[in-house]
Amino acid sequence: MRLWLRNFVSRANGYLGNPLEWQSSSKAVLLGAITAIIYLHYALLAEFLLRQGGDSQFIDPAYLVTQVGWFYGFALASLVLSLLWFAAGRLWGDSAWFEYLAALYFSLSLSYFSYQIGTLSLPVGAVMVGAPVVGFIFFNRRAVMLALSVAMLVQLVLSFGAGWGWWPYAPVFQQGPQQLVAPSAYTVFHLYLYTFPHMGFLIVISYMVLSRWREREEKVRLLSITDPLTGLLNRRSILSHLEQEQERSRLKGPVLSVLMVDLDHFKAINDERGHQAGDFALIAAADALQRSLRQNDRVGRYGGEEFLIILPGTDLAGARTIAERCRQHLEATQVILEQGERIQLTGSFGLVCNEGHVHMAVDEILRRVDQAMYRAKASGRNRIVVDHHR
Ligand code: GH3
Ligand code: MG
Ligand code: MG
Repeated sequence: MRLWLRNFVSRANGYLGNPLEWQSSSKAVLLGAITAIIYLHYALLAEFLLRQGGDSQFIDPAYLVTQVGWFYGFALASLVLSLLWFAAGRLWGDSAWFEYLAALYFSLSLSYFSYQIGTLSLPVGAVMVGAPVVGFIFFNRRAVMLALSVAMLVQLVLSFGAGWGWWPYAPVFQQGPQQLVAPSAYTVFHLYLYTFPHMGFLIVISYMVLSRWREREEKVRLLSITDPLTGLLNRRSILSHLEQEQERSRLKGPVLSVLMVDLDHFKAINDERGHQAGDFALIAAADALQRSLRQNDRVGRYGGEEFLIILPGTDLAGARTIAERCRQHLEATQVILEQGERIQLTGSFGLVCNEGHVHMAVDEILRRVDQAMYRAKASGRNRIVVDHHR
C-alpha cells in the first residue's frame, strides 16, 4: 500500500514537473482553478449560514441572500477563465500575459470578497501579505507587483470610503452597536499606519530573498547539468535527455538517432604531451562536435573522452550526414599548444537509429551504439559504423 502510494506520488511529481519551471499559462490555469475552489467554498459557506436561519448572530441574512449569486458567479467565472487560459495556451503558445491576467483577476475578484467581510479584517490581512510572498516564488514578479498595487489601491479606496460613510463596511455582517461597526476614517488611517511598515518589510524582504534564491537555483541547476571541463551536458543530463527523447519517440512516433564518439588514441596525447594538453584537446573536441549540430540536437560528455549525441527526429540518412560532419570537423580541429605544437584529433563513431523499431529501450540503444563504436575502433578508427542489427 505504501509502495503504491509512493509510486503514485512519484508519478504525479514526474507528470507535474517542477512548478517553478511551469509555463505561464499553466500557472494561470492553476491559479484560476484554486480561485474557483475558494469561491465555491465561500458560496457553500454562505448557503450554510443562510440555512441555519435568520437568527444568526453573525451575518445579515437579508443582505447575504442578495450576494450568494455573485459568489457562485465568481466561482464559475474563475473556472471559465481557467479553461480559457488552458485553451489559449494550447492554441497560441505561452506568454507572460497569462500570469498578469491571472494575478490581476485574483486580486480584483478577491477585493469584492474583502469588501463583503471588511477590508480591515484578519483574512484580508493574511491574503494581502501571504499571496504576494507565495506569488514571488511561483509567479512572474512584475505580475505580482502589479496585482498587489492594484489590490492595495482598491483596499484603500474601499476602507476610506467606508470610513467616510460612502458605503457600508463589511455588509455581510450584521450592523449594529454590538457588531462590526464602520470604522471612522481616522481609525482606518491609523490601522493602515500600523500595518504598512510590516507589509513593507515582509514584502520587500521576501522579494529580495526570493530573487537571490531564484538566481542561485538557476546557477545550481546549470552546474548540475554541465560538465565543468567542456561545458557540455554531463553524463546524467545527457542520459536524461536520451530517456525523454526515447519516450517521446515511443509515444509519438518520431525517429531518434544516437551517436557515440570516442576520441582515438587519446591516452597517447596525455602520455606524450601531458594531462593539461589532453584537457585542451577535450575542450577543442567538444567545441568541434557542438559546432556540427543543429539547434535541437544534444551533445554530452558521457565518459572521459567519450561523447553521446542525441539527434531527435532524425532518420538514419540524416544521422549519417551529421555524424560525417562531426567526424570531419573533429579531423580538421587543430589543438595548438603553448610551444606551438599541434595535436591532431580524430574520433570513432557508433550510430544507432530506431527507424522501424521505435520500441528500443534506452539500455538497448546504449548497448548497440557502444558496440557500433567499438567496431569503428576495430576497423581502423576515424570512421562511422552503423548498428548492424537493423
Ligand atoms: P582508443 O583509440 O582505443 O580509444 O585509444 P585511447 O587511448 O583513447 O583509449 P581509451 O579510450 O581507453 O583511453 C581514454 C583515455 O582518456 C584515458 C585517460 O587518460 C584519458 N582521459 C579521460 N578523461 C580525461 C580527462 O578529463 N582529461 C585528460 N587529459 N585525459 C582524460
Ligand atoms: Mg574511451
Ligand atoms: Mg579513446
